[in-house]
Amino acid sequence: MTTRLIVPSKLLLQLRTYIPKGPLTYGQALTVAERQAARLRELLGVRTAKMPFDWVEHVPNLTLQVLPAHEIERLAGRPASGLTRWNQQLTYLVAVNKNTSFTHRRYTLAHEIKHVIDCPAVDTAYARIGYGNDELRGRRIEGICDHFAAHLLMPGRLVTKAWHLGIQGLGELAGQFGVSEDAMQIRLSSLGFVDPDKDKPASYFFREVDPPRFTRV
Ligand SMILES: [Zn+2]
Repeated sequence: MTTRLIVPSKLLLQLRTYIPKGPLTYGQALTVAERQAARLRELLGVRTAKMPFDWVEHVPNLTLQVLPAHEIERLAGRPASGLTRWNQQLTYLVAVNKNTSFTHRRYTLAHEIKHVIDCPAVDTAYARIGYGNDELRGRRIEGICDHFAAHLLMPGRLVTKAWHLGIQGLGELAGQFGVSEDAMQIRLSSLGFVDPDKDKPASYFFREVDPPRFTRV
């Protein structure tokens, strides 16, 4: 039998204390995201590899909806995996696209939770992200939320522990953490357990484009 996790009343405030007052660099923002992901598991008392999400709808002032793709598209103005909206009173709507896979929905919800955590600080903390380029800034903020999701769903310590216990099959690991095999492959690569470039030393020092980031698949 599983029991629902208790949501501390100041959950969001406690996670927001990790965001410094001034503008962050992209690297600093990624570090903050990692710490918040680890702290969120701690605050909720999560003991399992697979992150549960039954607590989300019990976060004060947050409404969680799972909507068909066409509704999400209408709200977002474009096809999307999910969206987060908030108002001046810090009341949040998180909507997730129902017509995506189980693992995609979980990744989306984790990503949207980071938008909720960040919303009061987004204008100051991310003021210099993108160096005045709004399009780049938007992409980087999405990358920060994906980074948070990856660390919430696949904590480095737990993935490392599973790997050393001999759980090294991609499907098995992905199943254990409730993520797609693609997401787990990227996480294993970021932790250094798999290395698609190992026979191409020059590839470590040259890329045509930004390195791949986590995608919700
Ligand atoms: Zn987003």
